[in-house]
Amino acid sequence: MADDKKKKDKEPDMTFFHPDLLEAPKDGSAPYLKGYRCKKCGKLDFPKLSPCPLCWGEDFEMVPLSRKGKLYSFADIYIGQPGMNTPYIVGYIDLPEDIRIFAQLDGEVQTFKCDEDVELTTGPIRMNQDGLPIISYKFKKAN
Ligand SMILES: [Zn+2]
Repeated sequence: MADDKKKKDKEPDMTFFHPDLLEAPKDGSAPYLKGYRCKKCGKLDFPKLSPCPLCWGEDFEMVPLSRKGKLYSFADIYIGQPGMNTPYIVGYIDLPEDIRIFAQLDGEVQTFKCDEDVELTTGPIRMNQDGLPIISYKFKKAN
């Protein structure tokens, strides 16, 4: 029993900020970001904005977002927040759904270029208070 608890405590935390951001299917299929489409006016947002900023609607349907996009802009970060290993990279990714997403980038500093193709991945974005990785979405160079 004690061993089970110990093992469970070491499993990465799969949530960050908000549980409605990322779906990482337990069957091993590719993770995806969860967009939310307003049922009243059709506006698609990520993350979910409720009520809808256009029409104040409160009913949404979840829409899996594209896994690939283009890097709009980015910054290499050398002095980070507590719990974050430096250097790391953050950027804005434009998805085909006309949504711009802020995310960490998975890769080496000084290797990314604006407008390059990137794709969704998952990985540690920071450490929790116990020094364990918190896993969430990131983007990496597309293959
Ligand atoms: Zn709306």
